[in-house]
Amino acid sequence: MNGSQYRPAVMSVDVEDWFQVENLRAAVSRESWDTRERRVVANTQRLLSVFDRTGVTGTFFCLGWVAEREPSLIRDIVSAGHEIASHGYAHRLIYEQPLEEFRQDVVRAKALLEDISGQEVLGYRAPSFSITADSLAVLAETGHRYDSSWFPAQGHDRYGRLDLAEEEPRGNGDASTADSSRSALAVRPVMRLTPTPAIREPFFELPITTRRLAGRVLPWGGGGWFRLIPAGMFRRGFLRAVTRSGGGVFYLHPWEVDPDQPRVEGIRRDYAFRHYVNLKRTEDRLERLCRTVPFARADRVLKLR
Ligand SMILES: [Zn+2]
Repeated sequence: MNGSQYRPAVMSVDVEDWFQVENLRAAVSRESWDTRERRVVANTQRLLSVFDRTGVTGTFFCLGWVAEREPSLIRDIVSAGHEIASHGYAHRLIYEQPLEEFRQDVVRAKALLEDISGQEVLGYRAPSFSITADSLAVLAETGHRYDSSWFPAQGHDRYGRLDLAEEEPRGNGDASTADSSRSALAVRPVMRLTPTPAIREPFFELPITTRRLAGRVLPWGGGGWFRLIPAGMFRRGFLRAVTRSGGGVFYLHPWEVDPDQPRVEGIRRDYAFRHYVNLKRTEDRLERLCRTVPFARADRVLKLR
């Protein structure tokens, strides 16, 4: 990709189990996690097989809680050539906890994941994309080099808000080169992260891919939307967004390829729809997407190692 405007998109997986999802929180308490059937290993192995068949490597944002209980899964991900990044330890929404507790959570997850994987953990993704400006500074101060938690799409009640789009990218070669148009959100250095001496190196934001259609910014980077809309339409739109903005980020979860996961009753109907729609088709759709779009690990796209 040297000398070219073009970058592969980031393939990313948030490694967590079906019972840790925010949409199910009303019916599945945190205290019950240890009593639930863990399906994350088998489901992540299915994703690893898809990536193996299609020659894709990506970034796995792993939950500390899972890594602690399933360390060999983390090592399997490493040996398959993927990047280990952090999804925090306890999967609490960032803005629902004091900043100091957030700091402890990410420090704990980073140390644990580095211990198990033998890789330095450079990246972070927030539970339910609940990122805030304050928490970005904490990430940079605690040795992370990039965040991929910003989902600048409309119409979601839980996503965090950042105003990075209003800031000028620090266009200065390599990874920090960003297209100057508003829609070009593939790689954007986070600005104004220099008030503390603890932050010495550039810190990057890798937003989830969106598409502007009919005056609205739609989520177009994976998850429920990927399972809901026609597969060909998603692939064409994603490829287009990636080509236009010089990059992109796709994400999914292991439980999204698991149609046999336990069904949770007593949650909001729209949450249930978002969680369960088209689970049966995800694996096949993912495989076709992997054969259509060039994907890579986030650390390589950012040229961090
Ligand atoms: Zn999550």
